[in-house]
Amino acid sequence: LLKVTHLHKEFGQNTVLNDINLSVEKGEVVVIIGPSGCGKSTFLRCLNGLEEIQGGVITISGLPVEAGKRDITKLRQKIGMVFQSYELFPHKTVLENIILAPTKVQKRDKEEATKEAIELLDKVGLVDKKDYYPRQLSGGQKQRVAIVRALLMHPEVILFDEVTAALDPEMVHEVLETMIALAKAGSTMLIVTHEMAFAKAIADRIIFIDKGDIVEETRDVKEFFIEPKTERAKKFLKTFA
Ligand code: ATP
Ligand code: MG
Repeated sequence: LLKVTHLHKEFGQNTVLNDINLSVEKGEVVVIIGPSGCGKSTFLRCLNGLEEIQGGVITISGLPVEAGKRDITKLRQKIGMVFQSYELFPHKTVLENIILAPTKVQKRDKEEATKEAIELLDKVGLVDKKDYYPRQLSGGQKQRVAIVRALLMHPEVILFDEVTAALDPEMVHEVLETMIALAKAGSTMLIVTHEMAFAKAIADRIIFIDKGDIVEETRDVKEFFIEPKTERAKKFLKTFA
């Protein structure tokens, strides 16, 4: 469904992603972990077309996007993203925030998009908040709105970048539960997280990145958390023990 070959990304002289190769199947949940500054967010931002890439190809549903070609609309339409900081528009209500891109970018019918938005809000327990403004919501509620907003675009893959990092501990749970429900429903997801228990619970595959390289990659998720194969991953996991 999503294929990344020889992805190379640099900021000026600074290489942030060396040569990333990754294939993600439909319905797969891939969790990306690694030390701060190793390039996790940059990787997701490249996939979503928020960063230009200097080398390689990103192929989504058979459509290739190559380095140097600014063909990012393909990526944006098929790959959704949820950020740590929600990125909701403060002057728009929950419902307005959610239907904005589907109606303006995808030119969907407003009534139809609204109907689906309400169904999705209901699923995450927020339908009664549809006319609230973001400032009237808790962090966990805002983050669930941001997830619904991404879902309404019907992306083929959804990227999550540390979506619980800014939340109070009591609110982490409700957001993680929402993500686990999505995973069970068959969504294809790439998740960056520092929540190791969550990573273990949700991942079909673990990708460990260090200094812009995939250092370890495994579908044996349980084993990875007991005994990773590389020293670098071992050292990294120790910091959570
Ligand atoms: P964290 O776990 O702290 O979120 P990360 O793995 O997400 O870290 P990135 O945000 O991808 O790390 O950053 C990787 C490297 O790229 C860092 O060295 C950072 O300084 C650099 N970097 C990120 N964005 C930019 C930018 N816009 N311009 C220049 N350098 C950048
Ligand atoms: Mg990051």
